[in-house]
Amino acid sequence: MLKTILSFLLLFAPVQGSFDKSICNNDDYLQDEVMFRYKSSYVNGQEYAELQTVCPEVYDPVTDYYKPSSCLMNGWTLAIGESAINMRNTYEIATGDIANVGLQKEYSRGIGNSGKYKLDSLVFTKRSGSKEIYSGTSIDLRTIVYIMDFSSCNPLWKAPVIAKDVELALFNSPNNSVKNNLETYYSTCSYGKTSFLPEFTQIVGPVPVPCSGVVPAPYRPNYKPPISKFSRRNETVNDWWDISKFCTASEQQAWERVALNYSVELARATGNIKLDSLLKWRNRLRNLYILPTGLKCGWSGYADVTCTSPSCSAYVKIGSLFNDLHLIMHESMHNYGLEHANRGILEYGDPTDLMGDFNKAGRNTLLCHNAPNLFRIGWASSVGNITISEMTSNLASFVIPVMSRSDKNMLFIDNGAKYYVSYRVRNATIGAFDSALHKSYSEKVQIHGYNGTQSERVFGFKTNILAALSVGSSWTNGVIKITFNSIVSDGALVDLYKL
Ligand SMILES: [Zn+2]
Repeated sequence: MLKTILSFLLLFAPVQGSFDKSICNNDDYLQDEVMFRYKSSYVNGQEYAELQTVCPEVYDPVTDYYKPSSCLMNGWTLAIGESAINMRNTYEIATGDIANVGLQKEYSRGIGNSGKYKLDSLVFTKRSGSKEIYSGTSIDLRTIVYIMDFSSCNPLWKAPVIAKDVELALFNSPNNSVKNNLETYYSTCSYGKTSFLPEFTQIVGPVPVPCSGVVPAPYRPNYKPPISKFSRRNETVNDWWDISKFCTASEQQAWERVALNYSVELARATGNIKLDSLLKWRNRLRNLYILPTGLKCGWSGYADVTCTSPSCSAYVKIGSLFNDLHLIMHESMHNYGLEHANRGILEYGDPTDLMGDFNKAGRNTLLCHNAPNLFRIGWASSVGNITISEMTSNLASFVIPVMSRSDKNMLFIDNGAKYYVSYRVRNATIGAFDSALHKSYSEKVQIHGYNGTQSERVFGFKTNILAALSVGSSWTNGVIKITFNSIVSDGALVDLYKL
């Protein structure tokens, strides 16, 4: 009898840490633990945002590296565009957050099973918390750069660059004629607070990617994808991809998985110690994918906003490598947590920030960030913090240093809304801070609005350029007035009036 009871208990005792997904899931309702990735780019004049789910990574004792787990919603797109932005802001979802997600299949009258799923429940199990805001210690970025080869899909989609040129684009050296290489871009714009160094970067590739394939869901391992599909977004949990036709989360996950497997094999085969340590780095590893321009992706670049996961991604379609360095840095700074720099309703409208309009930034030049974006990541701080309600006089004057000369370079004003006042001068030296600043914004006092904070978990705020003042001119919001009084030896003399 005792033996019977014991075997009964053993049979029905829950197994710690695993459950049979074929019992819990069916085609109508799916539930699994997934990791979020929030990506941003710019397509046809609009910001294109996407909230994707991928399988959380797990340790693989066979290879001694991490790899994506097997889950039901790999390469799934939860929301796009405005709804992705709203969902991120409402649920406060950061890239790297892990949650139990329930999806309900949608049925519509007359059509029946639409084949699509919608979000039914979302319970966070792990919120990412990593920070890349400077707090006194230099941040050394870790990066694997993948040169991707899609020639199995289309002969024109071969690897767009060679490793030797990528090295020139990335790293500084005395004889390197590429003066806005990424190493210089980071060290100059961050005032030495963030470094991008060859000893912490590995270039891998060309990585050959198969044009199509399937990652079956755990409970439908024998699933085969339909032969022809117009669109594959949100229609199935089985993760199939077809790079010849699409560029959805599934295709992106496919090339990421292929690149990861390739570099794991490379590290094992060659004993490359640097690659080995990068693959084991679990603290905001950058994966930068260099892609051919022909790929069926509507964007030029696409990146995780914030690198709050163990690793994060940036994709860049490269035509001319050395002309595209601004784009590579733009996407890299999305990983760093920066959003687009607006001018009014123009998403990319701020020409004083690489996160805005960098189209006029020429070769070998640097376009650093505007004052609030520099503040957001701790690369620069203020010469004065003024709360208008606490001003004892109706006039206060400040000298604001030229931004390229000092990392203490902005005036912060709080009158409910928050304003940043800075002074920028175009630098004639190639490869120098603000060498790409457009002349119509040079020697101007710039005023930006920004209500965000130094946090990766405060969502929904972007910088907005409000004015670029010449000497003698003013800006007002009706409560305060800011006047560019004159140029002085160390910067701009600015008068702040409380009206
Ligand atoms: Zn962008």
